Amino acid sequence: MRSPELLKPWLNPALPWQHGVLERLSSLQAQEKLPHAILLTGAKGLGKTRMAASFAAGLLCKIPGIDPCGSCEACQLVGGGAHGDFKWIAPEEGKRAIGVDAIRHAVTFMQQTPGYGFHKLLVIEPAEAMTVAAANALLKTLEEPSGNAHLILVSHRPGELPATIRSRCQRFNVPHPTMQVAIDWLTAQTSCSAQIADQAYSLTRAQPLTAERLIQSEDLVAREALAGALDGLLDGTKVMPEALVELNSYELDMVLETALQSVERRVYAAAVPNASRQHFYQRDQILRWLAASRSGINFGRDVMLPELGRLLTSRH
Ligand SMILES: [Zn+2]
Repeated sequence: MRSPELLKPWLNPALPWQHGVLERLSSLQAQEKLPHAILLTGAKGLGKTRMAASFAAGLLCKIPGIDPCGSCEACQLVGGGAHGDFKWIAPEEGKRAIGVDAIRHAVTFMQQTPGYGFHKLLVIEPAEAMTVAAANALLKTLEEPSGNAHLILVSHRPGELPATIRSRCQRFNVPHPTMQVAIDWLTAQTSCSAQIADQAYSLTRAQPLTAERLIQSEDLVAREALAGALDGLLDGTKVMPEALVELNSYELDMVLETALQSVERRVYAAAVPNASRQHFYQRDQILRWLAASRSGINFGRDVMLPELGRLLTSRH
């Protein structure tokens, strides 16, 4: 187990776009036809890892139903990282691969009869991190599955798994939410505007959980306000001394980067040659300042911000 979030999966309710897959798994479970080997796929940032944790804990939970209750004896053991029938394999801290030793231990674990309840659960995440030797060691378990042992492989790049592994698993793919579902979910989770949700979702290439973290870091909200101040200077709707007060509350590099974006938008959009020449000049100047700042030259914000203001308000 890696993080407290995964240790208490009942604190993470299923996400709207996961319901279809969960219903299929739940129905198979109800018919006692749950596959021994489940390959849970889908793009990054769709919450597959927490879904696997929740589903595994739900199978171990003493209360019938797909969601773990969070309070029975089994859930308490899962929450303490001490449930003897539940094993979670991920790359060790600071490593990228899952080695053969970890998988050999897991294979032995899978062959033992359940000690606490009815099921044994092994989650490997991300499955494509297994070395070739590790994947070969796992094959044995896939070829001779024992009674109530279930393996859940979580992978956002299933193409990198050996075909011998893939062919022995039943695949369940978590789909992307529709744009509207994603935006509704993001606005409900973070109380942001639909515009910010839309922007974050695009920036993170349709990864709702990554977009949620981005919004929560407040980077986007702050950037939007900063871009508004800089655009105001460029368009002449804001004047210097007042705008300076606004710019002063941001990191200098962030101000320069955002100013660069504002100017570049105008370079690309310029219909009038003269207007674009001015924006080209502004862009080159900001690039020089950014390069200097990144190579460690510190002009100081007291010098730089008024300079930037003069540059953005200059009309040639
Ligand atoms: Zn429970």
